[in-house]
Amino acid sequence: MQAATSLFLILHYLFLISSVIFIFVQTDLISTPSTILSSPIEYLTGVSAIRGDLLRKELNIFSFRDLLEHYPLRHIDRTKVDKINHLNEYADYAQVAGRLISKQIVGEKRGRRLVAQLKDDTGIMELVWFQGIQWVEKILHIDKDYLVFGKLSFFLSKPQMAHPDIEPYTAQNATGKSFLEPVYPSTEKLKSRGLNGKAIGKLTQELFNKISENDLPENLPESVLQQYKLMNSYDAFRQIHLPVSLNHYEQAVRRLKFEEFFFAQLSIQLIKLNRLKTVKGIKFEKLGELFNSFYNNYLPFALTNAQKNVLKEIRRDTGSGKQMNRLLQGDVGSGKTMVALLSILMAADNGYQSVLMAPTEILAQQHYNTITAQLEQLPVNLKLLTGSTSAKERKTVLQGCEDGTIHILIGTHAIIEDKVVFKNLGFAVVDEQHKFGVAQRARLWKKSSVPPHILVMTATPIPRTLALTVYGDLDCSIIDELPPGRQPVTTIHRNESARPQIMDFIKEQLSLGRQAYIIYPLIEESSKLDYENLMKGYDEVKSFFPEPKFWISMVHGKQTAEQKETNMQRFFKADTQILVGTTVIEVGVNVPNASVMVIESAEKFGLSQLHQLRGRVGRGADKSYCILLTGNKLSNDARERMKIMVGTNDGFKIAEKDLELRGPGEMEGTRQSGTLDFKLASIVDDKAMLEVARTTVEQILEKDPELQSPENLPVNNHLLHQKAKTRWSKVG
Ligand code: ADP
Ligand code: MG
Repeated sequence: MQAATSLFLILHYLFLISSVIFIFVQTDLISTPSTILSSPIEYLTGVSAIRGDLLRKELNIFSFRDLLEHYPLRHIDRTKVDKINHLNEYADYAQVAGRLISKQIVGEKRGRRLVAQLKDDTGIMELVWFQGIQWVEKILHIDKDYLVFGKLSFFLSKPQMAHPDIEPYTAQNATGKSFLEPVYPSTEKLKSRGLNGKAIGKLTQELFNKISENDLPENLPESVLQQYKLMNSYDAFRQIHLPVSLNHYEQAVRRLKFEEFFFAQLSIQLIKLNRLKTVKGIKFEKLGELFNSFYNNYLPFALTNAQKNVLKEIRRDTGSGKQMNRLLQGDVGSGKTMVALLSILMAADNGYQSVLMAPTEILAQQHYNTITAQLEQLPVNLKLLTGSTSAKERKTVLQGCEDGTIHILIGTHAIIEDKVVFKNLGFAVVDEQHKFGVAQRARLWKKSSVPPHILVMTATPIPRTLALTVYGDLDCSIIDELPPGRQPVTTIHRNESARPQIMDFIKEQLSLGRQAYIIYPLIEESSKLDYENLMKGYDEVKSFFPEPKFWISMVHGKQTAEQKETNMQRFFKADTQILVGTTVIEVGVNVPNASVMVIESAEKFGLSQLHQLRGRVGRGADKSYCILLTGNKLSNDARERMKIMVGTNDGFKIAEKDLELRGPGEMEGTRQSGTLDFKLASIVDDKAMLEVARTTVEQILEKDPELQSPENLPVNNHLLHQKAKTRWSKVG
């Protein structure tokens, strides 16, 4: 009995202890990031204070985890044995097997070195040591076979290796070890401290001696690993650095890329879910007097089906009681402005003010003019606010926004300044959004206690993958239809020698009553050369098209807002037939009578810019032309861009190509976003995987939006760690 009781007690205690351990292990997994991985990098053997400093400065490696995420550039295949006579100057590293035929310490003082010769069945190579000479000399034996690995150099076209790795050549290594040695990105400064691409590998190796699987718990749900046959987290890290085979390496990369996409998508979709859950939205109850009256009496044309559909989406969103955050993509000339205007009228009908924000003064002014004319018969008060609004006018505008007498405010960045306060802002339109950063968009939110509905419009179509990553928290509408009667713009590519014919062609078009743009590149606002070219071009155009038969407007960034405005107005009113300018006219400018767009030095423009510029013509019923003028010698890249422009008018196709040619980091609007900071994954090369990650995340969140199920616990956990990490790095 006694024994039974004690046994019971023992078992009981064991149970208690084990559950404590269990809880301990659990909480360790759940709430605290692996302490070892957050250790400062100096805690690693081989990292002195100086090296630690350099690693931080040069590679942003602060902690063990940072080193873990510093992935190799490539691996050297150490299973391959090279023949000495086949070594060439293009190979960085080589591995050679042979017999040691001589060793000798030569030189004096600083020039003192150990020189050895290794011979295989094709030739002889020299091995040199400048340090540790005595010791190396002792371990090397003449007439023994060695396997040597190191960085190749050539002296008098003979191969050499300094400080190679050397080991006896045995039956085992004769068959070749399966060993891919990692080489890491490094910098000159680090190299001068002995941390070249290979030496960093020694640190990684050391790191793996210190950590175990427990330090890198799985962060993806088991079912996802199974479904897509993904390697687990620890193995992936181990195999990307120190793979046992090429296949393992590739699987590791695949898994880590997936993880990057997965968590990026997860945070984007969580932001959206969270917004829908917590942010209140203004509810537009009705379509009222203003909307109906305008729609029935003043609409200058019938809406396209695409426009109608987008309006329905906006109507649904704004009537739902949730805040709308919508991205409206539509190719140049697809009629986004009218969609915006009708939405603004919906807001006004429900007693709310609206803003329409444009990226340039010209564009703001243009919107203001068109919309003022269109709303002339309606009781709405419309005002313009830009950087060049006079102090007096500005005061009136600020007053009117605050007391609610202004219903629609159109303007530039000026309208998001803190001084601009609204009585009840309900709707905000951001036109040609790629010139606005995410931060600027966010400022609009704060203009009202309940954030206004936001419609972001872009005429630079965004490739789907980019939209998913950068704007994934926005809902997306697409106008994929141009107003009827538009003829596609014909694009041709010519070089300098065709200039006279082109001028004749313009003359012909002008004689039909049309207008023309001639655009010069302005790469930098301050570039003197670019301005000189523009002025030279202007004079040239003038000599072809002399006054008073022809009149020319010129618009560029060095003019005052007033000068620009005057020149643009003359062109709008067809007082001038030609507009010579820089890309200040790039976005949005609408002169339907213009039928020719000549782009000078077209090779200097990016694809989306060329497409934008081309979009300035073909806006009326007349046949329009875009002429790309370039020099004779073009880079392959430039030639490709011209070819694409000539080949298609489809903005979405062009955007895809642009992304391929330039890479995601270069796309407008993405630079500040931070959502593209993938270490391994690429939204260009790994499109399919991005889609998979996205749907996977969607499915998970649909079933378990709080990520509380046991299966999703690792995911939730990882998110918490990430948050903790960002908080800390902010503190740091
Ligand atoms: P974008 O989408 O590039 O901003 P705009 O809104 O400036 O295009 O519209 C381009 C031109 O097409 C304008 O002159 C506009 O009045 C006209 N437009 C817009 N919608 C229609 C339509 N449904 N039918 C005919 N013309 C239209
Ligand atoms: Mg527009």
